[in-house]
Amino acid sequence: MIQCLILGSGPAGYTAAIYAGRAGLSPVVYEGLQPGGQLTITTEVENFPGYPDGVDANEMMDDMRRQAERFGAEIRTATAVKVDLSQRPYTVWFDDDTTEQCQALIIATGASARFLGLADEEKYRGQGVSACATCDGFFYRKKTVAVVGGGDTACEEATYLAGLAQKVYLIVRKPFLRASQAMQDRVMQNEKIEVLFETNTLGLYGENGVEGAHLVHRKGEADERRYDLPIDGFFLAIGHKPNSELFTEWLKTDETGYIITEPDTPRTALPGVFAAGDVADPRYRQAITAAASGCKAAIEADHYLKTL
Ligand code: NDP
Repeated sequence: MIQCLILGSGPAGYTAAIYAGRAGLSPVVYEGLQPGGQLTITTEVENFPGYPDGVDANEMMDDMRRQAERFGAEIRTATAVKVDLSQRPYTVWFDDDTTEQCQALIIATGASARFLGLADEEKYRGQGVSACATCDGFFYRKKTVAVVGGGDTACEEATYLAGLAQKVYLIVRKPFLRASQAMQDRVMQNEKIEVLFETNTLGLYGENGVEGAHLVHRKGEADERRYDLPIDGFFLAIGHKPNSELFTEWLKTDETGYIITEPDTPRTALPGVFAAGDVADPRYRQAITAAASGCKAAIEADHYLKTL
């Protein structure tokens, strides 16, 4: 029986493991599908306190992992595929055909990139369609790419890609960017980036991988214009979906799927079950806020376990 089982290995999961380990709870962390979490698909982290010169995201996650291990956390590589939260101890099934029971469960499964829902995104996945500029940008050196989205992620990805590609189009559905002013400025000042406002993607085309996108400018307006834009790569940066599917039978979520916790705590309605990080945070979604909620979850788990 595991005392404190943690699902997820982003800043929330590892911080929970550090605190739970130091509290003597012998935590077991399951890394899940993306060890190190979403941060590992970005480049540099500049806004995590304590790193005045920024830090490589993978390096930061390796450090968190080692810090968790130092306090006795056991890190396992499997992914949870099913849970039974109907009774205590709680049961979790994993994709390596193992099953575990636990007294306390910390859900820190994060969120995943969203896609537009076009059939062509599936058709060309891995052949020109990507949701991670840092992972795949390398393949587009001196080529032409498009990034979809107008938030901080889209601006960051467009700027990153501009360092590799010859030309970057930023496809934005509204007449303005939603990103922070600093990120907007970075995009606007980069001569390799061209922002296509009020533009939507209808589909992709190409014989061997993506060769272009079918776009529409001012869809539904009198001056609507449809055209094809030749590109070699199509990057999605339109937000994320919380990885909460396994738990929706047992826990309340909002309409997007974010797990609802008691205000200002990671406590869910089920005793001993806590939700930390992006899976429960539609608002802030930062590494530092995820880490903070992982800390709170471990403290709550410790309190809970002492009542048993
Ligand atoms: P956001 O939700 O902030 O932005 C999503 C963008 O995608 C919006 O421009 C949205 O358009 C657009 N979009 C959504 N759905 C579609 C669609 N179907 N078709 C076309 N466009 C679409 O997500 P981000 O991932 O950018 O950011 C998430 C959070 O993380 C934010 O709080 C952000 O500030 C933060 N972040 C911070 C960073 C940093 O500080 N370095 C880096 C990256 C993210 P619309 O505006 O029309 O809704």
